[in-house]
Amino acid sequence: MSERYKLNEARKRLEPTSLLCQYCWKAISEKMEDNYFAPVYREKNRVNAVVFRSVNFNKIHVGIPRCPSCKKNHQNNKIVGWIIGLIVALLIVKLVTVYFAGQISYAIFFGILGFIIPLFFVSKLATTIIVVRSGIFTEREGAEREPQVMALLREGWTLDQPSA
Ligand SMILES: [Zn+2]
Repeated sequence: MSERYKLNEARKRLEPTSLLCQYCWKAISEKMEDNYFAPVYREKNRVNAVVFRSVNFNKIHVGIPRCPSCKKNHQNNKIVGWIIGLIVALLIVKLVTVYFAGQISYAIFFGILGFIIPLFFVSKLATTIIVVRSGIFTEREGAEREPQVMALLREGWTLDQPSA
């Protein structure tokens, strides 16, 4: 493990000792809880990487230094993204119910799909676009560029939750 991190065993996370915000590269992190803790998962069916001597994790959070302004940007734009996703999802549900008027089972089936899929994907996409346009990295982009996370990814860990 690099010197840039301290293992917090109780919280199963690596806490950064460096302060430079990895999202804007301008400001510094002021509080540990402002940092973004990226979940990193050990992939199944892969050789167990010995990462921390006596400690064996299947999932660990790696803290990415983040300044208060980038934290606020990420949090606010997550909310904006959800609102956009919700509006798109409701519009699609409206279209589906008009299109399948009289065919109630189709209307329900496609209505549910037409609600859930845009809600998740449009929300995520909208958040990403707004954050990137504001000139900083998204939570995920910042995590992917962080040397400790990159080292874990090279050893067979993943940022995506492995399917059971
Ligand atoms: Zn920042």
